[in-house]
Amino acid sequence: MANPTVQKSDEPAPGNMSDTSRALAVLRAVIDGMAEGVWVTSEDGTVVEHNNALKELLFSGTALVGHKAGEIVESDELQQAVDRACRENASSRLELNLEGVRPRVVSVHVSPLGHDLSGSSAVFFDVTELRRLEKVRKDFVANVSHELRTPVTAIRGYAETLLSGALSDPAAAPKMVDIIHRQSERLSELVEDLLELSRLESRELQLAEKPINLAQAAQGASEAVRPKARARNIEIELQVAPELYVLADPRGVEQVILNLLDNAVKYTPVNGHVWLRARRLNEHIELTVKDDGPGIEARHLPRLFERFYRVDKGRSRDMGGTGLGLSIVKHLVTAMKGDVRVESAPGQGSTFYVTLPVAPQVAGNPPTPG
Ligand code: ADP
Repeated sequence: MANPTVQKSDEPAPGNMSDTSRALAVLRAVIDGMAEGVWVTSEDGTVVEHNNALKELLFSGTALVGHKAGEIVESDELQQAVDRACRENASSRLELNLEGVRPRVVSVHVSPLGHDLSGSSAVFFDVTELRRLEKVRKDFVANVSHELRTPVTAIRGYAETLLSGALSDPAAAPKMVDIIHRQSERLSELVEDLLELSRLESRELQLAEKPINLAQAAQGASEAVRPKARARNIEIELQVAPELYVLADPRGVEQVILNLLDNAVKYTPVNGHVWLRARRLNEHIELTVKDDGPGIEARHLPRLFERFYRVDKGRSRDMGGTGLGLSIVKHLVTAMKGDVRVESAPGQGSTFYVTLPVAPQVAGNPPTPG
């Protein structure tokens, strides 16, 4: 005789009903709390359920439930993956490039529901940032190789020419040696800049937080570029009040000023002017490096602080630029809890603004009006 207290396995015991509902509620909460988008389809591939993250990820203003994959996302591949999961019990992984106001790269894993349930599920994972970083890394490696190749090719070419006889040509030999020398300097500048960047990025470089007299730092940096400025009759005007102190790393501050002054002198035509000014703005000190050079078109400005980004590649290389100066500035300033931005327009010169924290414990540092 059957024991009346034993339930059949497919009939939930009344006492277990709340457990089942609880389990379902927990499952629902987990799915809703996921950063990844999730949908579930019926066996004909129609979406029957999804979480909030999916709507945000797909940036969809309309309902998803009741629609097939192909109606929601313009992708034959996704529709085919859902069909395969529903009909052939097969999982697939694919990547979607979603266009529109907010372009996104989304990795999708589609699988059959299994457990004797018909239908499929899909998990959507936003990989936009990951793919962007991969591209940055690949571009960086390509750029470094390209930048290194130019001087290395020149050095090798001239050395070979010298070895195959030009060494005994008194007119040509000194010129070739001079080129080799200049290109090897360029190579070492490039390597130095790359090392500096990598130290900054890996946060290996311990930056100090000391009160630094800005007038002295500006004086030191400007001395370094004076010979270059003098050779092109460019006047550098320093207007930094002696009582201004920033809380930063001494070498870092000088490097920032030096890179900005060096660019201003480099890109400003002969007989030009460069101004370096500073003023206190509440808790920060704003340093301005301005020139009356050619200026920069607006379309270049958002990318100017990227590694190897140059407005005019030929001109930058001719002037001995590595294309890394401004990205070093950006990294240094950020590491010193400051900020850097640029204002420029063709024919209007360029102005770079750097803000750094003011050194509070130092007497003086009065707010500058304006
Ligand atoms: P580079 O070594 O080429 O000077 P940077 O990172 O220092 O590299 O600068 C990036 C680019 O920004 C330069 O190649 C140049 O095109 C532009 N640029 C920087 N400063 C100035 C400036 N003061 N005036 C005009 N263009 C500038």
